[in-house]
Amino acid sequence: MNPEKPKREITFKKNEEITLNIDDLGNNGEGIGHLRGYTFFVKGALPGEKIKARVMKQKKSYGYARLSEILTPSPNRVKPVCPAAGVCGGCTLQHLSYEEQLRYKEKKVRDCLTRIGGVDLSTVEWLPILGMTEGKEQPWHYRNKAQFPVRADKKGQPVTGFFAGRSHSLIPVSSCPIQHPVMNEAAECVIEFMREFDILPYEEETHTGLVRHIYVRRGYHTGEVMVCLVINGDSLPYSDRLVERLLKIEGMASILFNVNQERTNVILGSRIYLLWGKRYIEDRIGDIHYRISPESFYQVNPAQTKRLYETVLLFADLKGEEKVWDLYCGIGTISLFLARYASHVFGVEIVPEAVENARENAKQNGIDNVSFVCGAAEDVDAGQDVDVIVVDPPRKGCDTALLDTMVKMQPEKIVYVSCEPATLARDLKYLGERGYAVRKARACDMFPQGGHVESVCLLHRTDM
Ligand code: SAH
Repeated sequence: MNPEKPKREITFKKNEEITLNIDDLGNNGEGIGHLRGYTFFVKGALPGEKIKARVMKQKKSYGYARLSEILTPSPNRVKPVCPAAGVCGGCTLQHLSYEEQLRYKEKKVRDCLTRIGGVDLSTVEWLPILGMTEGKEQPWHYRNKAQFPVRADKKGQPVTGFFAGRSHSLIPVSSCPIQHPVMNEAAECVIEFMREFDILPYEEETHTGLVRHIYVRRGYHTGEVMVCLVINGDSLPYSDRLVERLLKIEGMASILFNVNQERTNVILGSRIYLLWGKRYIEDRIGDIHYRISPESFYQVNPAQTKRLYETVLLFADLKGEEKVWDLYCGIGTISLFLARYASHVFGVEIVPEAVENARENAKQNGIDNVSFVCGAAEDVDAGQDVDVIVVDPPRKGCDTALLDTMVKMQPEKIVYVSCEPATLARDLKYLGERGYAVRKARACDMFPQGGHVESVCLLHRTDM
């Protein structure tokens, strides 16, 4: 230990009761309050509230405390719909009114862009956040995909639900209010089948048992349902009986199982076998039809996806002559959405099944000015002719190699779609230092009741 450096005083005892004024929300929906130079994260507390909490854990400059009493509640506090809210790791903002959720999400994107990205927002045309507020629309039952873990309850019976935040303890939830009801119905059907035929649920510690996850997908416009059981084995006993039962569910179109025999947190293994129906389901966004395989990424909130893509189209402002690159294109959703307004769209995607879907989707929709490349976005050759780049990476954002390639390609515009404002802002800074400035931005709420936020930014080359 360095004797010169004074040891920082631990100023709070474990379990000490503290009173805090909450002034912000953290990334996982926790309330943030400050006391004697420390930042405390308190799950369940909201900005504007005065609370009492007990200190649980303390690090150098921040700590965690457990909410014990709300002294002054926020006017924006609402009663969560789901009994598992606050325990289940999924919905971290159910206790906040939807209007405030939207305000918080927009602020989060704006804060990241200024603090991390160094973006001067006075030079950006900021469009209001797209929320699920239009007409009769409610920010519930919107999800088109569920991956329910299956485990044994105390009596050894199979149950399904969700993992508690940051852990693998299962919270039984029989009806998840952000899922389409058919997801819950399908999961219930599989659990009943398992109970009747003594099919064992997976046990993580011993790596035994069979059924790990029930993966369900539903096409928003078509109503087609896909059920895929992820199993720790090569075959599913009594599968014909399962099929028989699942066929009673409206819209059933695809029944499969996936083999995952690894000790891993990754849900899907590499082999998928068809038990009944098609190997994919179909859906539509606007007037474009899409085939979706179980391995392929597809946005989880279909109503909002259309609005997100419309924003991409608006920002790209295509005149029909442009060569467009759609990096991280998935099943080609954005590529096909843009194709009719462009001269050609090139999509790049790393998952082979998604690329297969993308090519098939182009054919099915009679769109021939698109081509898809299976590979890493980082490996795109910078010598290509391009006018607009659309980029939609996973949460970790873009690799510097890719950002460098984008700069070398010298497109007039970049439309950056992001599901993580912190990495978006980091990448905007990098691009900003290399000649690309943010001109327009908009957040879009793809995940009502949860803390994540999607956003779209338009960047222009500044030397033009
Ligand atoms: N734009 C699409 C998909 C966005 S999700 C849509 O809106 O549906 C991000 C996609 O990037 C996923 O399909 C994922 O498989 C793909 N991906 C992840 N890493 C990649 C990489 N290094 N290169 C290319 N694609 C990648």
